[in-house]
Amino acid sequence: MSKNSSRTAGRHFLQIPGPTPLPDRILRAMDTPIIDHRGPEFSKLAKRALEGIKTIFKTTSPVIIYTATGTGAWEAALVNSLSPGDRVLMVETGQFATLWKNMATKLGLKPEFIATDWRTGADPAVIEAKLREDKAHEIKAVCVLHNETATGCLSPIAEIRRAIDRAGHPALFLVDTISSLASTDYRHDEWGVDVTVGGAQKGLMLPPGMSFNALSDKAIAASKTSKLTKSFWSWEDMLNMNKIGFFPYTPATQMLHGLTVAIDMLHEEGLDNVFARHNRLAEATRRAVRAWGLETLCRDPKYYSPTVTAVLLPEGHDADKLRSLALDHFDISYGASFGKLAGKYFRIGHLGDTNDLTILGALAGTEMALTLGGVPIKKGGVQAAMDYIASVHAGAQRAAAE
Ligand code: PLP
Repeated sequence: MSKNSSRTAGRHFLQIPGPTPLPDRILRAMDTPIIDHRGPEFSKLAKRALEGIKTIFKTTSPVIIYTATGTGAWEAALVNSLSPGDRVLMVETGQFATLWKNMATKLGLKPEFIATDWRTGADPAVIEAKLREDKAHEIKAVCVLHNETATGCLSPIAEIRRAIDRAGHPALFLVDTISSLASTDYRHDEWGVDVTVGGAQKGLMLPPGMSFNALSDKAIAASKTSKLTKSFWSWEDMLNMNKIGFFPYTPATQMLHGLTVAIDMLHEEGLDNVFARHNRLAEATRRAVRAWGLETLCRDPKYYSPTVTAVLLPEGHDADKLRSLALDHFDISYGASFGKLAGKYFRIGHLGDTNDLTILGALAGTEMALTLGGVPIKKGGVQAAMDYIASVHAGAQRAAAE
């Protein structure tokens, strides 16, 4: 039943790994008259947002809120903390890591890129070895993606911190949490991260257009001597104005309304419950993929992502054709594939305002689309996901009864 009318009934299944569907409560919170961004009502809103977002990054240090997508916050992290010609150590976990590396080069930094086959996360031992080789401490920052959205591999940030410390290296530690924040545990302070880059449109369940830099004292100190050109991205102007509840330029007021409600919602559910839900949906998805007889792109369980699963198709099957067929027939969108693996895999996002039945509906659509597309799969993926989700609920029910 390929589309032959201009209307599609029901909600679109937006299973891309962000932007994620907006909860109605967030949409309603944003549907409000514009207020004076230099007035007292705004100052209250801004202070609430600026304090609230710290609880999501698990930090007591300032978090800068930009009116920009994640790419802007990437640039802000680099230009505020580094100087032209600085060496930076980065890990090629996938497409997004590559884009950040390309940006570093364009800004006049000298990235050293640790290669991977895009099927694994960042290896702390390799980072440690590279830092130990750098006896002169020329490397000024280690930049890692917590979750590589392009491949569905999560890197162990706390372990990488320990690796940097073991090497006795003073480099700053910059981490991208754009597709992991508010979906899986993240501890900016405890893990000794200097700049955490975040985005609004994934675990925070907001529209695209807002992003973050969570800072450390060391990062703020580095910004005082950093020589890369910055104006809009300057932390200094932001920190000064944020102290009194304002921004140096017109802020995204409606997004701030949405952000405060998103933070409330995450705490009402409980961050640990939010993380457990993401783990459950991710495991259910992987079990479906396995039952179909397909492979996930992330090949090591140590690195499995709680927010996105990339599914490899057998040789000779085009993932882009499958995505288009699934969209036509079942009104579901998946994430695309990139770079050296373009066309070979598709990504199922399971993050944000997503629950057990959302993912089961999405997996049902996927199983039908795979069959319709002639991909040789075994039946029973949805059943395997259902069995897993039901078993988790049964376990919780037993625990509650004890
Ligand atoms: N980093 C990661 C891990 C991402 O997933 C994305 C986008 O999806 C970006 C950076 C770039 O963010 P944006 O597209 O919001 O500029």
